Amino acid sequence: MTVPAAAPPPVVEVRDVVKSYAGEVHALRGVSLTVTAGELLAIVGPSGSGKSTLLQVIGTLDAPTAGTVRVAGYDVGRLSDDRLSALRARHIGFVFQHFHLAPGRDAVDNVADGLLYAGVPRRERRARARSALERVRLGHRLGHRPAQLSGGEKQRVAIARALVGEPDLLLADEPTGALDTASGEVVMELLHELNAAGTTICVITHDQGIAESLPRRVRVRDGRIVEDSAAREVGSR
Ligand code: ADP
Repeated sequence: MTVPAAAPPPVVEVRDVVKSYAGEVHALRGVSLTVTAGELLAIVGPSGSGKSTLLQVIGTLDAPTAGTVRVAGYDVGRLSDDRLSALRARHIGFVFQHFHLAPGRDAVDNVADGLLYAGVPRRERRARARSALERVRLGHRLGHRPAQLSGGEKQRVAIARALVGEPDLLLADEPTGALDTASGEVVMELLHELNAAGTTICVITHDQGIAESLPRRVRVRDGRIVEDSAAREVGSR
């Protein structure tokens, strides 16, 4: 008996999201955004436009004041804290501008930590960390600590950590912001390559050049989406 397969839900579905601080600062003023599997997009805008807030909301690190957020089909607002942590561990990988690596631990341990909350035994965590590091072409740096790595290499370790759990979504917040131009290019090439292999990636950036290099651009200004290259019409809410 064959059961027709249902279409998979979008990886991210944000609907009418408002985020206000202290009832006064309106960081997001009604944002709707759908990201489907396999996309590589930039969320681009000037400083203060609401990009980081949108990343926090999509990444389930912060709850919206109003509106709904679905990740991998789950309505995030309906999940308990425990289920939310589990959802984050299983479905979302994060990459930050300043890497956030543990200084006293080598590359393998830093990457293996990406599986800490996924209930994977230590030996398997380390084996998977080694293959993730090979994927980002750091197979020759497995035992290096962050201080022994260049900025670009640190960011590649951070990308391996984000990917080791095979998340549905990689959220990268200014991933080249702390890198020189050449290392930044290597990191962006890597993101393109990972996307070509199937990872859905959302890059938050203020850099127009980076945004232009990605297949889809969502422009944010004053807490609203003012342009989405994937939409036929420019929507402001
Ligand atoms: P971007 O990432 O584009 O620089 P943010 O999302 O960080 O923008 O900020 C959008 C607006 O929300 C800014 O006016 C910022 O000052 C404000 N904001 C962000 N986080 C907080 C917070 N925790 N408390 C109060 N205001 C905040």
